Amino acid sequence: MNKAIFLDRDGVLINNLNHYYIWNSDQLEFVEGVFENLQLLQKKGFQLFIVSNQGGISRGLYTKDDVLKLHDEVIATFRKNHIVISEILFCPHHSDKEKCLCRKPEPLMIEKLIAKHNLNPHQSAMIGDSESDMEAAARAGIQGIKILPNKNMIPFITSLLQ
Ligand SMILES: [Mg+2]
Ligand SMILES: [Zn+2]
Repeated sequence: MNKAIFLDRDGVLINNLNHYYIWNSDQLEFVEGVFENLQLLQKKGFQLFIVSNQGGISRGLYTKDDVLKLHDEVIATFRKNHIVISEILFCPHHSDKEKCLCRKPEPLMIEKLIAKHNLNPHQSAMIGDSESDMEAAARAGIQGIKILPNKNMIPFITSLLQ
């Protein structure tokens, strides 16, 4: 079984200081240190995944296609930096609009990836900047690591790099 890191997107990989919702490439700014840090995690044998709440879709601010297009660009930029993102899952729902089983703090996105990619939850972790990320991790039975939003995550991930 493989070990994995589940990454929240906004505030962890992409800087969301200036934009609460991010859906086009003009808004794409990576958080400091992200490429180096993901390279280090990869070298430690972790497969990398992104799990993201995109409630702006449900609220009509942007479309699923906008998100898919942006994610193509995110994946391409990571690839240029020698980082492989195995899969990205996002929840298009918003709790103001409807109920769903995928929006974090629901653990479903993480659980799906664990099952599909045959991942070992005991060796895997979720890196996020919000309580809902931590709750989703706990409910999926994996370790949760809370970092400061839009800051270099390195001080928080040293235990994963030993
Ligand atoms: Mg976030
Ligand atoms: Zn959902």
